[in-house]
Amino acid sequence: MIIGGLNKCSLIDYPGKIGAVVFTYGCNLTCPYCHNAGLVNDGGPETPYAVDEVLGFLQTRVGRLDAVVVSGGEPCLHSDLPEFIRKVKEMGFLVKLDTNGSRPAMLKSLMDEGLLDYVAMDIKADPAAYMPLLSRRPMEAELKESVSAILHSGLPHEFRTTCTSPFIDEAVLDTITGMIEGAELYALQEFNPKHTLNPDFFDVYEGISPELLKRFKCVAEEKVRRCVLRMAS
Ligand code: SF4
Repeated sequence: MIIGGLNKCSLIDYPGKIGAVVFTYGCNLTCPYCHNAGLVNDGGPETPYAVDEVLGFLQTRVGRLDAVVVSGGEPCLHSDLPEFIRKVKEMGFLVKLDTNGSRPAMLKSLMDEGLLDYVAMDIKADPAAYMPLLSRRPMEAELKESVSAILHSGLPHEFRTTCTSPFIDEAVLDTITGMIEGAELYALQEFNPKHTLNPDFFDVYEGISPELLKRFKCVAEEKVRRCVLRMAS
């Protein structure tokens, strides 16, 4: 597992808990609005961390932090992710996984082994339309498998969508909310144009207005148990 970032204390990444955030390096998507270019670009992480160094740090935080959030990049690309999380759980931390949902087999094995306490999955567009702007290959089947596994897991969970054209409009929102019907929480995130992976991309496409975001929220609330807007700061 390659770790490319560590936030030693976060109040916002695990709902209601104080946690550290571990950022794994590498991703199989190419979201133009990604704010973690240093974790996604080829050539290795800008600031690599040894796994033992991170585990050593976490050991010093036992009793002081509630949780560890494993984010990325895409954590589920790393075959030794279960081993890492097992060690984190042995220290007594709650574990939240942030995932793009592209690796359902890994996700399910983590959930089946009881290694996760909270799962957050991004749904970036109509799952049938990830290629070519978000992914180099079709991903619909994997994304749907991950959604279904999360919905049936019994774990606290959330789905999240960054709202920007050309990925989201009312028809796409309908498709996504139909897919996640009954979800505990759906977060509609305002697009933040600062420091993106592909800033030129947004010369052509416009963001989505706060008014439209509010309309999206009303639509989504018909299908999910709770919907929130997360505005860019
Ligand atoms: S936003 Fe997430 S899924 Fe998209 S490229 Fe960045 S790290 Fe990968």
